[in-house]
Amino acid sequence: MAKIFCVANQKGGVGKTTTAVNLAAGLAKIGQRVLLVDLDPQGNATMGAGINKATLTATVYQVLLGMADAKSAIKLSETGKFDVLPANRELAGAEVEMVELENREKRLKNALAAVEADYDFMLIDCPPALSMLTLNGLCAAHGVIIPMQCEYYALEGLSDLVNTIKIVHAKLNPDLKIIGLLRVMFDPRVTLSQQVSAQLEQHFGDKVFKVIIPRNVRLAEAPSYGMPGVIFDPASKGAQAYIAFGGEMVERVKSM
Ligand code: ATP
Ligand code: MG
Repeated sequence: MAKIFCVANQKGGVGKTTTAVNLAAGLAKIGQRVLLVDLDPQGNATMGAGINKATLTATVYQVLLGMADAKSAIKLSETGKFDVLPANRELAGAEVEMVELENREKRLKNALAAVEADYDFMLIDCPPALSMLTLNGLCAAHGVIIPMQCEYYALEGLSDLVNTIKIVHAKLNPDLKIIGLLRVMFDPRVTLSQQVSAQLEQHFGDKVFKVIIPRNVRLAEAPSYGMPGVIFDPASKGAQAYIAFGGEMVERVKSM
């Protein structure tokens, strides 16, 4: 059965999608069967996997509302060699439309159950909000990966996210845990980054992943080619870091 992880942080632009797409490709490279679920109406993970979000007939939106099953909406990322349950702007409507539905926070979990046996990993790219969509992600997952930049405000937002995860764990999904905090866009020359990084290690101990993702322009360039960074330029420092992160995830999952 698949291990299911949310990539979440309600702060915008902290590297959630870059992490989800590159971890998916990194895991696929080492022979894992991966489904990437795009749970963000921005559709960035969909595009970054090389899938044109404008021409889709079925997306995660139809799946959440029960108008399509997961299998029929899933597409192959030809560049990344993993499967994608894609999203586009339509998904923004789901927040409101799901309000009427029963068990609305478990729609994704129930939909993914039908394809769980087909994968080793499912990675859910969450939108930058603690919204009903993110709640669906948290209810479907076994764990959360939290990408963060090592800056002062990053710590401030972290407590809201950690509290939300605690509440979901207590009330909705007893399986849910924080797998780890991933330091991304890291620049070792910035003193504050080093200080915040050390604080994170002190505070969260082995919940902080050992691998650190550096700031690397090749990771930012890759999406415009519809490719994960680890495929676009496998030798780049950013790609190497995400490949190493895939290895660290596989090790962590063994002890779960
Ligand atoms: P949103 O909250 O809007 O969904 P996000 O958390 O998914 O954003 P990304 O889209 O992954 O964040 O990253 C934000 C921007 O930073 C993008 O332009 C991306 O290409 C760039 N970026 C992400 N990680 C790195 C990195 N390690 N080095 C350089 N640029 C990066
Ligand atoms: Mg994103």
